[in-house]
Amino acid sequence: MSVAQEVEVANKVYESNFTKGDLPLPPGRKVAIVVCMDARIDPAKSLGLSEGDAHVIRNAGGRASDALRSVIISQRLLGTREIIIIHHTDCGMLTFKDEDLKKIIKDSGGDADHLSFLSFSNLKQSVYDDVNYFKNNSLVLNVPITGYIYDVKTGRINKV
Ligand SMILES: [Zn+2]
Repeated sequence: MSVAQEVEVANKVYESNFTKGDLPLPPGRKVAIVVCMDARIDPAKSLGLSEGDAHVIRNAGGRASDALRSVIISQRLLGTREIIIIHHTDCGMLTFKDEDLKKIIKDSGGDADHLSFLSFSNLKQSVYDDVNYFKNNSLVLNVPITGYIYDVKTGRINKV
């Protein structure tokens, strides 16, 4: 069975218990959360979120610049007025440099030299950088922005 078939089965159960069909489109808690796509992080469970609460924007590393388009839409069209950024311990983005990945791609006949993969070597600094990226971007509204590091060993978020 493919994973697609497995999720179809799981969704049948979810649908049968579903009671959230009347939620408004804008997030009820007016927050956009930018968080790494790491499979070990469950934003809903670990942050106490329910359907309708928040925009959860995920990408490799939880990088701000990669999330910019979504954050602008979230703020200007859907009314969010707070940003939370979450990077995490043992992130895959700490394990390579952009040049390494570009070489892997080049060796297989591709060319990603125009792309930035936004890898980083200092976890705490990457959170500071992304908080400051939003703070200094004139397209982003002046709203509270808080950065955290999620510990994949304990499930705890630590404010940076
Ligand atoms: Zn990660």
